[in-house]
Amino acid sequence: MSEPQPLYQARIPIHPRSVKGRFRNLKTGILLLAYAVYFVLPWMRWDREYGPNQAVLFDIPGRQFHIFDLVVYPQDIFWLAGLLMLAALLLFFVTGVLGRVFCGYFCFQTLWTDVFQFVERKIQGERPARVRLSKQPWNAEKVLKLGTTHALWLLVAFATAFTFVLYWGNAPTITAQFFTGEAVAAAYITAGILTATTYIAAGLAREQVCTFICPYARFQSVMFDQDTLIVSYDQERGEGNAGRAKPLKNLQQREDRQAAGVGDCIDCGYCVQVCPTGIDIRDGLQYQCIHCALCVDACDTIMDKQGWPRGLIRYSSERELEGGKTRFLKGKSIGYGVAILVIIGALAFSILQRPPADVHVNQVRQPLFVQMSDGWIQNRYEIGLNNVTDQPLEFEIGIAGLEGAELDLGQVEEIRLDPGQRLTVLARVRHDPAPGSDSPKQFSFVISDRQGRIEPFETGSQFSHR
Ligand code: SF4
Ligand code: SF4
Repeated sequence: MSEPQPLYQARIPIHPRSVKGRFRNLKTGILLLAYAVYFVLPWMRWDREYGPNQAVLFDIPGRQFHIFDLVVYPQDIFWLAGLLMLAALLLFFVTGVLGRVFCGYFCFQTLWTDVFQFVERKIQGERPARVRLSKQPWNAEKVLKLGTTHALWLLVAFATAFTFVLYWGNAPTITAQFFTGEAVAAAYITAGILTATTYIAAGLAREQVCTFICPYARFQSVMFDQDTLIVSYDQERGEGNAGRAKPLKNLQQREDRQAAGVGDCIDCGYCVQVCPTGIDIRDGLQYQCIHCALCVDACDTIMDKQGWPRGLIRYSSERELEGGKTRFLKGKSIGYGVAILVIIGALAFSILQRPPADVHVNQVRQPLFVQMSDGWIQNRYEIGLNNVTDQPLEFEIGIAGLEGAELDLGQVEEIRLDPGQRLTVLARVRHDPAPGSDSPKQFSFVISDRQGRIEPFETGSQFSHR
């Protein structure tokens, strides 16, 4: 009887080797840009006549998000829905054309793991040194190197978490309060949770987040087609008829190898050693592959050394590997592209055309109308006004479309609202409707400001007299 097999296989630690090349440079460039933006933005000041002087500030108590000159209020939530739809469509579009480039170059997990691996390499050395260190028994050297690595990881994780906190208030004030123990509890809790999750995800779990936790790897194949660019090993060129072989005697020159039926892969293993998820791309497309293309750089380095053409591992499509030509213009991509442009256009239009005030008019229905002693009919309305500009405005309210009607705002003499401020006004409209005329009758409230800083605009309502 065979031994029962354990259901859980312990993780085999991966110690990726470093590599130089164009895709590594591209990844480093994107990483530096992403870190610069993330860490600098909360400290960037922005000149506003009113409101905070922080360029990007998510002000939860004030219910306003400041993003440079744009102020986003809770009622603009549909912009968020638009952005989420845009992000999803962009992901589908890019994945259909370029495979998992998001995973390989832009995902937070990839970017932060890259930095953690950089720290690890600086402290513990290149791959052979790290492998040796992980296998050797505990001694002073191991304690010192692993201890320093983990301490620096925690420092990066804390810097990441603390910077996140700075987006939710005035950065210099939060910093001073945080380190003197005067910040709100939410700041310490958020920083603590994010420090722990960053440390675990980028330092300890690493590729396991991509392979076991992230759902994207599982459904990516749905978005792939024959023309999707994926990191692929050219099986035909690499294996020849007789398979891959090390460049031993008589197999060092390409011509000799071809004569012997041997492919261009010299089985050096460099592509496997640099892989952050620890897979062998020569085994074909695998869900663990995040398309970072580091194995492309590795193999190109080897091909350059051999003096053979690059591209044994390259971005390629299934169609190209079968001898065809990759088609970038395909129905699916064009459809996604058009949908993306439509959403971008709609969002831009909505942002640029947003009225200077958010106005809600509710007709009071208890009672719907009152007949006055002089025979006129009175309706009441609650008008909610929110100044969504970046300057104080003195609003004026008028009516249009109700011939001879009177508007009464009661004791309200002036409606002066600072940026972001809101107010609800009770308005009474009195009218002498012609006998037998339509009820309800449509009319508009006209909103303007005394200084003429905004274009007057109308918001529709109705007058009831029956
Ligand atoms: S196989 Fe290549 S592209 Fe895929 S994750 Fe590994 S190194 Fe990156
Ligand atoms: S780096 Fe290139 S030559 Fe070396 S094992 Fe990988 S595919 Fe073969």
